Amino acid sequence: MQKIAILYDASQIVLSTFDLDEVLERIMETVRDYFNLDNGTLLLLDKKSQELYVGTHFGCMESPEALRIPLGTGLTGTAAKIKRPIYSPDVTKDGRYLKATKSTRSELAIPLLVRDEVVGVLDIQKDVTDGFDRETIDLLTLFSTQASIAIQNAELYSREQRRTRQLEAINAVAKETRSLLRLDDLLPTICNLILQYFAVDHAAVLMLERRRLVVLAHRGKLTEAASGGVELNHHAGISGKAMAEGRTIVANRTKSYPGYVAGFKETQAEACIPLVALGEKLGVLALENASSDSFHDEDIHALEAVADICADAIHSAQSFKRMEEMADIDGLTGIYNRRHLEKRLISEIDRLSRYEHGMGMLMIDIDNFKNLNDEFGHILGDEVLREVSALFQKHLRKADVLCRYGGEEFAVLLPETVGDKAVGVADKLRRFVENHHFPGLGRPLTVSIGVADFPDHGSTRDDLVKAADTALYAAKDAGRNKVMRATTHAAESASVK
Ligand code: GH3
Ligand code: MG
Ligand code: MG
Repeated sequence: MQKIAILYDASQIVLSTFDLDEVLERIMETVRDYFNLDNGTLLLLDKKSQELYVGTHFGCMESPEALRIPLGTGLTGTAAKIKRPIYSPDVTKDGRYLKATKSTRSELAIPLLVRDEVVGVLDIQKDVTDGFDRETIDLLTLFSTQASIAIQNAELYSREQRRTRQLEAINAVAKETRSLLRLDDLLPTICNLILQYFAVDHAAVLMLERRRLVVLAHRGKLTEAASGGVELNHHAGISGKAMAEGRTIVANRTKSYPGYVAGFKETQAEACIPLVALGEKLGVLALENASSDSFHDEDIHALEAVADICADAIHSAQSFKRMEEMADIDGLTGIYNRRHLEKRLISEIDRLSRYEHGMGMLMIDIDNFKNLNDEFGHILGDEVLREVSALFQKHLRKADVLCRYGGEEFAVLLPETVGDKAVGVADKLRRFVENHHFPGLGRPLTVSIGVADFPDHGSTRDDLVKAADTALYAAKDAGRNKVMRATTHAAESASVK
């Protein structure tokens, strides 16, 4: 009767769930309840490392998560290797016995086999010598075949589910990245999608910038090892190796990996996948986990497919950025054009208003340029325009914005520089032009400059430009080669007229 009840329960386990944890728990419950045992462990086989690890257990056992038993070692490892149950009625006399609990006297290790393949070992123990009779051993062996099938089914199911999830991930990444044309939006999204679809603790995108790998985005639960971002020599660490060799590098135990450079404090395992688009290595996708041995081949293959999609999206975003930048650049001089000036005026006015800071604006026009063209021809005229641009560029600060406003006119924004200081910058530029020797031009070149302050002379884009322009006309009227400062608020002067 008991036999039938056990086998019935066992087949119920096989049929009732596909969840591996649940299957393992139910196997353990059945074993404990029917056989009145002191200790029981269900070990599973890690096929890659050929080691047994604890799936579940009951009774006392010290740090079961750390236990890894190579095939052929101990009673369990030997049972798995020879694919036959091993019964040790007195473990103190058995050389193969690995001591895991103090009180164990007898132990039974039954390999869990599906066809001829080992999926794990059912290991049960009693605190007395010869604690298992023949019938119990037979029954447990019979039960173990049902248990093996349940485990195998659950594993197949979870593999199938994982595959479905991977396809979902690839699909989602392709869909979500397609619409993102800015790297600032794209890179964090890539990290978030990977965290959402894969069992990964932290995801980072490292991009190659001037022979350095720079972390441009990262998301996850690990703590940065160095504050203020991570930057690596392009050959350093696991990411550098992936970059150099152009292939995925998996370090399932980072602590013992030669040349490992810690990006995050808790990392125990890291996988680095190069981001390659149209044959060009753009950077590396770095995935990190807080537990060792946590990257599996099946996940890596799916992550590589994801990385390829991401690399294409990054490449498109980079091209888009370059195209956008090109649209803001003047073809003749290589400095910003009027389109950029108008955008920057809006963003700078918005930014500076928030902090109640001011900004100077210069409008610069070359004096008598028409004559120069007429006298020396357009080609030299063009060369002069290029040279004047380079001269201005050289003598302005990095924060200043120099643009060709049109023809032979230039505009300069001087954030946080107003009043006498802005006039000082203008006069400095005027003198540099006046004193510069332009090859092919037998005489000095001069410029006239109008200076207006935000917000004093204009608090909107149009008013500020108008104020600077009016001051420029005043400089021309005053005889050229002059700097003139706006005197009234443009809006007021407009209303006065
Ligand atoms: P003013 O001192 O009053 O500014 O006199 P100006 O001759 O500089 O003024 P005006 O605006 O009448 O002439 C500007 C000239 O600049 C007209 C045009 O031929 C020339 N110009 C505009 N764009 C270019 C360019 O891209 N290349 C060359 N070579 N000349 C240009
Ligand atoms: Mg002009
Ligand atoms: Mg001119």
